[in-house]
Amino acid sequence: MKKEFKAESKRLMELMINSIYTNKEIFLREIISNASDAIDKLHYKSLTDRKIKVKKDDFNIFVSIDKDKRTLTISDNGIGMNKEELEKNLGTIAKSGSFDFKTENKKKENIDIIGQFGVGFYSAFMVSSKVEVVSKGFKEEEAYSWTSTGIDGYTIKKCEKENYGTDVILTIKDDDKEYDKYLDEYNIQNLIKKYSDYITYPIKMEITKSRPKKDKEDEFEEYKEIEVINSLVPLWKRNKKDIKQEEYDTFYSDKFFDYEKPLTQIHTAAEGTIEYNSLIYIPSHAAYDYYSKDYEKGLQLYSNGVLIMEKCADLVPDYFSFVKGVVDSPDLSLNISREMLQQNRVLKTIATNIEKRIKSELLNMQEKKEEDYLKFWEAFGMQIKVGVYNDFGVNKEKLQDLLMFYSSKEKKLITLKDYIARNKDYKDIYYACGNTTEQIAMLPQVEAITSKDKEVLFCTDYVDEFVLKTLMKYEEKEFKNVCSDKLDLDTEAEKEALNKLNEKSKDMLNLIKDTIAVKDVKFTNKLKNHPVCLTSAGEISVEMEKVMNSMPTQENINAEKILEINESHPIAKKLEKLYKNDKEALKEYSKVLYAQARLIEGLPIDNPTEITNLICDMIAK
Ligand code: ADP
Repeated sequence: MKKEFKAESKRLMELMINSIYTNKEIFLREIISNASDAIDKLHYKSLTDRKIKVKKDDFNIFVSIDKDKRTLTISDNGIGMNKEELEKNLGTIAKSGSFDFKTENKKKENIDIIGQFGVGFYSAFMVSSKVEVVSKGFKEEEAYSWTSTGIDGYTIKKCEKENYGTDVILTIKDDDKEYDKYLDEYNIQNLIKKYSDYITYPIKMEITKSRPKKDKEDEFEEYKEIEVINSLVPLWKRNKKDIKQEEYDTFYSDKFFDYEKPLTQIHTAAEGTIEYNSLIYIPSHAAYDYYSKDYEKGLQLYSNGVLIMEKCADLVPDYFSFVKGVVDSPDLSLNISREMLQQNRVLKTIATNIEKRIKSELLNMQEKKEEDYLKFWEAFGMQIKVGVYNDFGVNKEKLQDLLMFYSSKEKKLITLKDYIARNKDYKDIYYACGNTTEQIAMLPQVEAITSKDKEVLFCTDYVDEFVLKTLMKYEEKEFKNVCSDKLDLDTEAEKEALNKLNEKSKDMLNLIKDTIAVKDVKFTNKLKNHPVCLTSAGEISVEMEKVMNSMPTQENINAEKILEINESHPIAKKLEKLYKNDKEALKEYSKVLYAQARLIEGLPIDNPTEITNLICDMIAK
């Protein structure tokens, strides 16, 4: 007698049978995973009940193909099912909760969910016109078969089966050639390797091979040999001590298709409230699409050796999106949906731990393997910098120690920690911005301070100043742009002398200010050889003005500029003299000096013809 499926099962079946989902092949993963679970159950029973005698070595899953009958059979010697269990387990959906969610959503999302998580046994109907399950429960006398050709129902009949366990016999659809590949020995082997490689019981198949005939060496004959297809213990579950670096590297290149060796791997076996194994790699270079929108971050997610997701994005924060790897936890269920995964407590805990491990590994590399870290920084430094200022800087404290900047003193990249450690007596952290380190070194303000043997960080990346402005402080020291911020390096006496000078020359400085239209003009004592420099008042530095104005969407940004004149340069005396004798000449000189300051800063000059004419006049005099 035919029985009807329960309503929700029917809906799921419908979804499966009519699935336009292209990744139908995952059905095999689902069936094999069920077989493995059934063996697990018996295994567990045998471990807890001494009367039960089964040998672990006998456990296996057997996959066989019959091309003539168009069947693909997956057999296990696990716990099996009796009549009631067949009825209960296959006639209804066990986890109707997760299924409700699935059917409530739009069809498009359903398809996605099938791909990401699988929906168990019913996925067999994506590729089969008929599914037969022959099962004998452990210690049961009788075997039963459950058969269904689809939505209209199923039948359960008594049948013959010698040993306990389950055979799932799929009659592969014949209405389209696309299904033929599920009868192809080689393809099935590959699917097993792809999705079920790390099932802990051997998955066996009878493989067709060929060999020279005994009597006629030049003729070949086919023969069959049983082989174990899966590798049983995945690398990430093995003991670290037994793994050679080469094995880690090969696994990386095979799995993540990278021709270059990774910089390092982080292999973790966590025990305790949440159990998981993870194997995470830090690549040595950025993937070609890394800094593009196409790049998808994430780690492969396994539940007890069964792949449930290719790229689980929730496992890594954006600023570490470059890592590749695998996470495997028995505490995650196979059938969890993507949305549920996001809320999942286990996953969150794992993600937090992984983030910590990545950071500490990077810090470790920074300290002990400088060369590697520089490679890392070259490839992914930009990502870390963006991570600092993204989201209004919420992650800045986590990331600040990973940052590297070029040091004027060391002539190489250093960390903020290095800087602080070396310069304990500094009040602030000094930096300067520009296109190249050579250019920055030649800036008047920079030369002035480096000539006093002070260390300055040279920022050549356009994001650098934004990063430092986001950080604001590092270990209580503020970041000071030597070109725009007040540095406060003078003694009280020096300050007073300078104030006096500025006060005394107020009228002259005002005349210059009005001529060149800047925020302020003043004498400075911080310049060494250069006559003038440009600094800024307010939050926007001259460098930021340049960066922001080079972006297509920004409106015109103007830093409030201050022209500073070197008080000890001969030009200072000359200006005073002109103020007394020839105010017109003073105006012209001011224009030239201002143009000079702009050029040094890398800013354009508004009126180049006027300036060059002025210079020519002066030369001609
Ligand atoms: P799930 O595996 O998520 O529970 P399935 O729809 O894949 O959902 O399977 C339903 C139930 O059928 C399983 O929970 C299990 O009890 C039973 N089952 C499926 N395959 C087997 C098998 N090979 N051996 C024993 N029981 C099985």
